[in-house]
Amino acid sequence: MDTGPGFFLSPFPDETLHSLLSRYCRLTGFASVRQAFSNVEHSYTFTRNTSFPCHLKESERLLKPVTGLDTNALISRHTLLPYFQPFMSPEQLVMTRRQMESRNGQGLKMRLGLIASSLERYVRVRFCPVCLAEDDQKHGQAYWHRVHQLPGVWICPHHVQPLSIIEPVWIRDKATRCFLPTDDNLDAHALALEVSAIQRDRLYRLAALSWSALDRDCDPLQHHVLQQNLLRGAQAHALVSSTGRLRLTPLADMLSIYFKGLPSAGEFSRLCPVRAKQAPSWVLKLLRKPRGAHHPLHYLLLADALELNFDDLAVQRSVQMPMSKSIATKVTAKTGGLAHTLKEMYSEGHSLRQIGAVTGVSVSTLHVYAVQLGIHVRARPSILLPALRQQIRDQLVSGKAFSEVATDCSVSLASVYRVLRMETDLKDMLSGLRVERDRENRRLRFIMERERNTAAHACTDYAWLYRNDRVWLKGKVQCIRKIARKRTAVIDWPSLDRELSLRIRECVSSLRARPGKPLRISVALIGRELNSSTLFEKKLLLLPICSLELKATCETLDQFHHRRIEWAAKELRARNAIFGAATLLRFAAIRPPEGNAASYLMKLINEA
Ligand SMILES: [Zn+2]
Repeated sequence: MDTGPGFFLSPFPDETLHSLLSRYCRLTGFASVRQAFSNVEHSYTFTRNTSFPCHLKESERLLKPVTGLDTNALISRHTLLPYFQPFMSPEQLVMTRRQMESRNGQGLKMRLGLIASSLERYVRVRFCPVCLAEDDQKHGQAYWHRVHQLPGVWICPHHVQPLSIIEPVWIRDKATRCFLPTDDNLDAHALALEVSAIQRDRLYRLAALSWSALDRDCDPLQHHVLQQNLLRGAQAHALVSSTGRLRLTPLADMLSIYFKGLPSAGEFSRLCPVRAKQAPSWVLKLLRKPRGAHHPLHYLLLADALELNFDDLAVQRSVQMPMSKSIATKVTAKTGGLAHTLKEMYSEGHSLRQIGAVTGVSVSTLHVYAVQLGIHVRARPSILLPALRQQIRDQLVSGKAFSEVATDCSVSLASVYRVLRMETDLKDMLSGLRVERDRENRRLRFIMERERNTAAHACTDYAWLYRNDRVWLKGKVQCIRKIARKRTAVIDWPSLDRELSLRIRECVSSLRARPGKPLRISVALIGRELNSSTLFEKKLLLLPICSLELKATCETLDQFHHRRIEWAAKELRARNAIFGAATLLRFAAIRPPEGNAASYLMKLINEA
């Protein structure tokens, strides 16, 4: 017979579920909650120290006999969900509760926008030393309070004492260990949060607001109710203009002063303004379009900055902000100048748009003013007339940019897009035209690059054309190759031949006249001198005059040796040397090809 655990566990006020489970484990003698619940399926989803423990139906099975708590009580009294739920939509709340009761927590924080806010990581293990002493006295056991774990809570809302934090790095991988705040080994890893005297008051107010949100356990407040209440707070600080627009610079200034009274570390570093003179984007979202999920700390911080308490934030009023009435009052009482300008310019035939451009007031606002002043203004056309539609269509098809079309047709850019949405075939047609134009541009660019003799593969658009326009590309590559060949054939060979032959003659004369030991006049030497070696090697057939000139001027070996010997004899005589045939040939650096030196010398002299 199962007699149950044999003890009763009394849940404490504002105790976290993890604290309750830790105390349960101590009574059963286990060292960690995971060990204590190892035989329970999905125990890992509710034994972790986290904001949204899941599979709570299973924990209910274990805890109800000893604590008397069912799942609903566990969620509303021992998890952080009551802190989040005023700022959720009813659908989000239903989904979250269902997931916490009987599913795992996969994707939960993502859907609630907590991952995006990046504030969830600042849910820390914190405690208030005064609370610990008080709990010990009152309940005989110190425990973890939910409110101390909330991001933005650095001060105990009950004792106005700075909290102590367990080193996040140390506790990170110990989320399933059953620590209680009085454990000896926690002392070494607990740090007191540093709070200056200036920050103390502001942090206390924020902690009290967080405690209100958590303790009330109230139903979801609608986003527009929260927005209206925040705007009302902003209006009280003159941060909303008479036309209902936010006054961004005073708002940024106010927030900048507000954040100076808060710590710059931890969660506050994620929330403070990034740029001077600019309100953080989350503030503008809450005041303008609070769609989707926002972290409660966003709402609470802004409410505190606007000096609203939780009741001010949560109050539901049946009457909306009397914005149009206030505009009417302003128009008649304070904005007489604008009213006068509006009347005068409208009577002169100017449109509201033109008046708006002069006065810097939006057309919608001017329209409201005009109605209040009894001016008969035409209602802004909500239907695009067929002729205008056709005009916009034609201009789009002709390939003009959207902004250009808007200017030419005197409509807004939004209207151009409206026409695009209305004309179902237009979008496909424009898309086809765009592709066509793109292809034409690429083809043109390819041809231009090829004609500059860029290799086909090196052209910018080769890869795109190869993938999307291969037939054209292949044809073009061959065709352009032919053009390139023709271009190389247009060299005027006859005139080059004439010109080069003259230069050969001049070159040979200068070589012969050059002082010093004579060099043999050959095709190679002339080629080197005229920088035309390649032409002589490869294109001599195209240069007949040059060919004849080279034949006529280049020396045979005997002619060259004869010239060398003449030079050598002259040199030796100039030095008054007595020399024979062998000395002469040696001085001329000539090796006789056959026979002795004297006979070769005689042969050369005779030939000459
Ligand atoms: Zn305390």
